[in-house]
Amino acid sequence: MGGRDATMVLLDENGIRCDGRKIDEPRRIMIKAGGLKNADGSAYIEFGNNKILVGVFGPRDVHPKHMSNTDTGILRVRYHMEPFSVDERKRPAPSRREIEISKVIKEALEPAVMLEKFPRTAVDVFIEVLQADGGTRCAALTAASVALADAGIPMRDMVAAIAAGKVADTIILDVNNEEDQAGQADMPVGYMPSLEKITLLQLDGVLTPEEYKKCVDVGVQGCKVVYELQKKALTDKYFGKGGD
Ligand code: UDP
Repeated sequence: MGGRDATMVLLDENGIRCDGRKIDEPRRIMIKAGGLKNADGSAYIEFGNNKILVGVFGPRDVHPKHMSNTDTGILRVRYHMEPFSVDERKRPAPSRREIEISKVIKEALEPAVMLEKFPRTAVDVFIEVLQADGGTRCAALTAASVALADAGIPMRDMVAAIAAGKVADTIILDVNNEEDQAGQADMPVGYMPSLEKITLLQLDGVLTPEEYKKCVDVGVQGCKVVYELQKKALTDKYFGKGGD
C-alpha cells in the first residue's frame, strides 16, 4: 500500500490494468462445490491466481465442553496459508495476519449461519490457501459460504465477497497482489445479496468520502456477480454436472 513500487504502471493511458483487465472487470472466478470425501461440506475456488480449498465439519460436539454455548451453536474458522502459497516462503507457524483473517471471516459468516438451530454444537470451517495472489480473504469467504451450504447447514443467505480499491486515482474492482502492494486503497467487501446486508468491510489506504461510497458500491455490485457463481457451483453439483 502507499506506492511501494512507484515504477509499476497500474493503469495505462487506455484504462487497462497491469494484468490486462478493465477497471470494473473481476478476475476469472471458478467455484466448485464438494470434493472432499471426509468433510461434511467443501468447496474449491480459483479467483484469478488464488487457489483455496475449504472443508466444513459439523454441527458436532464441542471439545473442550466449556467452549460450547447452551443457547446457540458456535462457528469456528481457521484460515491457513500453505508455506508454498506465496513467492517468499511463509513460516508455518500461525501468523498474526492468519489469526486476524480467521476472525474477520468468522464474523462475516456468522450473520448468514442459523447457529441458533444447533445449541451446544460447533461448525468448523477450515480454509487452506494453496496459492495466494491478493484478495485471499474474499475468495476464502466466498468459498466458505459454498462449503457451508454444501454441508447442509441452514443459512439465511450466502456471503459473496470481492475487494474494490483505488489505483492511479481510479476506483477499481477486484484488487490483485500488485495493485494491493503498489495501489492507493484496498477495500474487501462481503455482502449477502438476498438480504442486502454487508457483513465484511475493511479498508487499507486513504479515500475521500465520495471515493469511499463509490468503492462500497463497486464492491457490492461485484459481490452480486460472485453470488451468481456461488449458486451455479451448488446447482452444478446437486442438479447438473460436477456432482460427486
Ligand atoms: N502475502 C504474501 N506473504 C504473506 C502474506 C500475504 O506474499 O505472508 C501476499 C498474498 O499474495 C496475499 C497478499 O499478500 O494475497 C495480500 O495480503 P492481505 O493481507 O492484503 O490479504 P488478502 O488480500 O489476501 O485478503
